[in-house]
Amino acid sequence: MIGLIAATAAGRRAAARLAEALGDCRVYQEASVGEALRRAWSECDQLVCFLATGATVRLIAPLLADKHTDLGVVCVDEAARFAVALVGGHAGGANALAERTAEALEAQPVLTTATDAVGVPGLDTLGWPVTGEVAAVGRAVLDGSPVRLVADAVHPLPALPDNVRPWPPTATGSVKAADAPAATVYVSDRLAPWAAEGGAPSGPSVVLHPRSLAVGVGASRGVAAAEVLDLVAAALADAGLSPHAVACLASVDAKADEPGLVEAARTLGVELVTFTADALAAVPVPNPSAAPLAAVGTPSVAEAAAVVAAGGGELLVPKRKSAPEGRAAMCTVAVARRPVRGRLAVIGLGPGARDLLTPRARTELRRASVVVGLDQYVDQIRDLLRPGVRIEETGLGAEEERARSAVRLAEQGLAVALIGSGDAGVYAMASPALAEAGPDIDVVGVPGVTAALAASSLLGAPLGHDHVSISLSDLHTPWEVIERRVRAAASADLVVTFYNPRSRGRDWQLPKALALLAEHRDPATTPVGVAHAVSRPDEWCTVTTLAEVDVTTVDMTTVVVVGNTASRAVAGRMVTPRGYRWQG
Ligand code: SAH
Repeated sequence: MIGLIAATAAGRRAAARLAEALGDCRVYQEASVGEALRRAWSECDQLVCFLATGATVRLIAPLLADKHTDLGVVCVDEAARFAVALVGGHAGGANALAERTAEALEAQPVLTTATDAVGVPGLDTLGWPVTGEVAAVGRAVLDGSPVRLVADAVHPLPALPDNVRPWPPTATGSVKAADAPAATVYVSDRLAPWAAEGGAPSGPSVVLHPRSLAVGVGASRGVAAAEVLDLVAAALADAGLSPHAVACLASVDAKADEPGLVEAARTLGVELVTFTADALAAVPVPNPSAAPLAAVGTPSVAEAAAVVAAGGGELLVPKRKSAPEGRAAMCTVAVARRPVRGRLAVIGLGPGARDLLTPRARTELRRASVVVGLDQYVDQIRDLLRPGVRIEETGLGAEEERARSAVRLAEQGLAVALIGSGDAGVYAMASPALAEAGPDIDVVGVPGVTAALAASSLLGAPLGHDHVSISLSDLHTPWEVIERRVRAAASADLVVTFYNPRSRGRDWQLPKALALLAEHRDPATTPVGVAHAVSRPDEWCTVTTLAEVDVTTVDMTTVVVVGNTASRAVAGRMVTPRGYRWQG
């Protein structure tokens, strides 16, 4: 719950607005602000104080303990212009809360944690457990000191700044021999990844733990969680694997509700996943046995479940039994490693204006280490990219090839962002990319505001009823196919948005398409909206009619929206009635 504390009338109004926007909030109105704050501190997870930072600092000072347990606290000024993340920026979630508060109140978020302020990824905010000297390594990264990145495989990390270089040195982009590393970042599921290098590094280090381990568990009815947890801990420790890297416990369906397993998974903070006995029986394992075959119908639970949960990955720790004193073992475990999965984010950037780029698109752009896209789209968002990001730009024409290369990069384990204007799935790169992508990479789609939607808002409400988009580009689609679709839209009385309507070399298609529509719609009354460079500095639009539209004003940065037989121009805007029952 988020506690809201306000002392003035303006503060209380802003608090009420925020409570409505965020939900799960409680406004504290005690006799004194100090009393309100102390109560909220004991009852809430986060606080937003509509007070001066000075007043808030004095009030929370006696309550602060350490950054891992303190609440996230955000301050909002009297005029609600700023939302300041005061304490608990990362662990307390104050940075994120300041962003949400600012969005709800149309204020400016103010974040002062170093890593967020200068665009270097906070090593503790990647979503992966991190152990070691986080602050010291973070400082070295920020200071620009040479930092070694020692990874056991290619992982989908975001871009890291230039001073963080892969180790051992590769032919290009490596730490030079003369640069003595000031710190080391390991990416590994091992407890002591430096062991492979012959010993601990000289400077400070951290280990990022990708969640790469699946722990298979076989259990007798009534097994105690402690017996499972002890065995899991021992199996990992003896194999030199980190408990932080465990992604899940895995077992057979018959054990999905076994209380000891459920509790062990909860204690480890991971999911318990289960599979059918048939699925497990199909996995070849080194140590099958008769007992589980008789009990649950598969010769292996622990080993087979580990391998299946790891997506067919390598078995690192073969089956091992618990050894409780004085009674029979009730549990077996085995550990397998998932192959690294790269990440392909397919991101729509919207029609051009920065405020039509979604917050999710912005976050995903900063999550990537490689950005692939047409040069003009890269220009649209270049300032949002992290320092050190690799950019694969491409000119017009090579897009499909480039889309496929984005998939290849994700297959190597990288975090790739494939970008496109509007929505990346609409006449854009998502189709050629995903036609090539297999099940071995994660794909994340981020929708964007399409040119059709942006144009529609500008023109009025032309898409108020059934509508269709048709691209007039006959470079990859035969004209006969396009013409058949235009005729179908004409006879079905659909509102039509024409994309790629006209270029220097393709000037007859638009007049032809409009003529086909005019066979079914009254040219004098059917409104036509022409929207050029929507949301960009050279934006313009006109609402005219099928009879009067001047096609020579149309170019490749334009969409043309043709109304149906019910569409009308109202006060200079284009309006399509919503439906049959609304038509008068
Ligand atoms: N993926 C894009 C479409 C790319 S096809 C989307 O979802 O909108 C390129 C065509 O989109 C252009 O020829 C033009 O018809 C249209 N277009 C893209 N951006 C536009 C804008 N800002 N204003 C008007 N039309 C635009």
